[in-house]
Amino acid sequence: MKSFLRIVSTLILAGSAAAHASTSYAVTVANDKPTTIHVAGTFALVSDTIGMYVTSSPQLEDGQAGLVRNLVARDSEGALIDTEYAGKGDWRLVNAVAGQVVEIEYDIALVHGDYDWGPGIDEVAYRQDDGLFFTGFSLFVVPGYESSELVTVSFDLPEGWRASTPWLGVDAGDVGGDGDSGNSGDQTFRAAGMMDLVRNCLFLGTHLEETVSLEGFTFVLALGGEFKAQKQLFVDAMAPLLPAYVEMFGGMPNASRYLVVINPGSRSDGGAFPGSYSMLIKGEVTRESAAVWGHGIAHELAHFWNGHTIAPASGHEEEWFKEGFTDYLTIVHLARSGLDPWQVTSRKLENMARRYIVAKRLMGIEDSMRAAGADKHKKRFLVCGGGSLVAFALDVRIREATDNTAGLDDLMKAMYSEFGGVESSGARGRRYTFEDVVRLAGEVSGESQKAFFQSYVDGTEYLDVVPVFDAIGLRLTTMMDEFYLSERESATPAQKAMAVSIFGE
Ligand SMILES: [Zn+2]
Repeated sequence: MKSFLRIVSTLILAGSAAAHASTSYAVTVANDKPTTIHVAGTFALVSDTIGMYVTSSPQLEDGQAGLVRNLVARDSEGALIDTEYAGKGDWRLVNAVAGQVVEIEYDIALVHGDYDWGPGIDEVAYRQDDGLFFTGFSLFVVPGYESSELVTVSFDLPEGWRASTPWLGVDAGDVGGDGDSGNSGDQTFRAAGMMDLVRNCLFLGTHLEETVSLEGFTFVLALGGEFKAQKQLFVDAMAPLLPAYVEMFGGMPNASRYLVVINPGSRSDGGAFPGSYSMLIKGEVTRESAAVWGHGIAHELAHFWNGHTIAPASGHEEEWFKEGFTDYLTIVHLARSGLDPWQVTSRKLENMARRYIVAKRLMGIEDSMRAAGADKHKKRFLVCGGGSLVAFALDVRIREATDNTAGLDDLMKAMYSEFGGVESSGARGRRYTFEDVVRLAGEVSGESQKAFFQSYVDGTEYLDVVPVFDAIGLRLTTMMDEFYLSERESATPAQKAMAVSIFGE
């Protein structure tokens, strides 16, 4: 029965415009003040159900799927297929079967900005004066996430608009184009499978798009609003960090071509995806305000390694490592590169310690750092603040144990060497567990770090960071929620040398 169906659908397709059962989407923006966006998709079903990913929103039970309108499905002869909404972003196609090629089309109401979103709107969709931002999982209704076959995505946009995507462009149907397929109107790209399609972001509009080659990477910058004029500041912030990250991890992340979308927002926030990152920046972008926006850029760049190339086996229990270690490394590398002067770095260290004490003592979060990952947006002070404090304490512990010949850099290198390559072209590599981090931290320091992780990461004991600052010649003076970091006069040369190894001269 199944093979019969496959033969039938192959025959039908052979006679149609498509030469084979390829997956494609066509995205249409009808005018330059759109209230909806139209999407048409053609693909083979994996089951009788298709769906859109659901990002949590307190006001929208089914997340962005709740903004999908007028969804219709047709078989490959154009006959309508009845659809039933099955909840949680899923639609059932009545009497449809796996393997059957269908065409769907739908509109999305561009009202994402009217709602709150768990991870922030920078990881969902928003409108700007310049156009439209979307993550793939807020734009595409898909038959499943497993397929690694190429997906053709074309855009029909208003005059003067262009599509900035993380995917390679297709020049006049020529696969493997150089990504520069014209300025506006019709643009076509190829995503490397369903995950590459949905787990990325894109921008459509009249923004500035510029491709920059930096240290073996290609960045497609998509800048909106007043940030169009700040391109060089962003490039200058990224340039010294990339070789430093490559050296620390001991290699490149899985992708070397990334889309970077930066727009003005009502709050600063960012999200990293396997081939792109999205940032909203509140306020001006100047050298003086780099403590905020430069930190965001450095943090998202580091996620290309820690988070996307090195990825955890657990869905939420290792957020302390993904977010916390990334943020600590961000502080360290901005200091080493000179992008942050010491007075900014020391305040970031004070803030790191403050977030942890606020989470533990004022917010009264009783979860372990690992458990808090399940609610990481609400408990970010413990997950991210606490996680970065653990990274700092571990960095110092490794240096103390090795006479400052090794540090957290070496743990990250060991993680990359064993677990790097997880996301490459949809293939599943080995993902790390909590026990892997504990084991490698022990190997790098030459002594067991098990009790440390059990107490402060898997357990709920309070990590006193004052002795950690002490050990590198600094003094943290605290009173309630006030934190003051200073240089300790009695610091020994060995302690000072450790601080220099971590933060640079
Ligand atoms: Zn992050």
